[in-house]
Amino acid sequence: MGYGFNFECISCDYKIRLFIGAGMRYSPQAVYYGFSDDPDKDWSVAPRDSRNLEMPMLFSLVDDEKVADFAWKLIRQGAEPTGWHWLSLYVCSTCWRLYNRFFFQLTTDGGIFEPEYWCEHCARLLEQTDFDFNAREVQLVSMYDRHLLDWHCPQCGEGGLVQSSDRFVWN
Ligand SMILES: [Zn+2]
Ligand SMILES: [Zn+2]
Repeated sequence: MGYGFNFECISCDYKIRLFIGAGMRYSPQAVYYGFSDDPDKDWSVAPRDSRNLEMPMLFSLVDDEKVADFAWKLIRQGAEPTGWHWLSLYVCSTCWRLYNRFFFQLTTDGGIFEPEYWCEHCARLLEQTDFDFNAREVQLVSMYDRHLLDWHCPQCGEGGLVQSSDRFVWN
């Protein structure tokens, strides 16, 4: 199940809509290999005609062609999904722009591959973040060590981020 959120800056009109979580469509088969007739493998409930059956969903979920192509290459070389994947919130810790990106893991010969995403504005590596879904005031923490991020609006430089509506279920 996935949740949607609307965030906005308390001081200006900066806002972003986010989709977080793993939807019911995201079976490992559908995400990494494409459509399968075997219901044990492909429990994705996505209507068949809503996706390109030739292509794994990875290509539409990953908002970075290089990352998707590289992951697809790893899969063809035998890398296996760990089953950990979801839409996530990423932030640039230089300009604090927020991004909605797809997190996933593949087990390779060399270890675990996770995607790296880069800020479109300042080309810095984005950090995956988390927040309390139930709090109106959004406090971003690092997904890795849970430290509180000192978020400042990329547009006005002020420090407040709030959920501007109730969260909604998207899948
Ligand atoms: Zn602002
Ligand atoms: Zn940035």
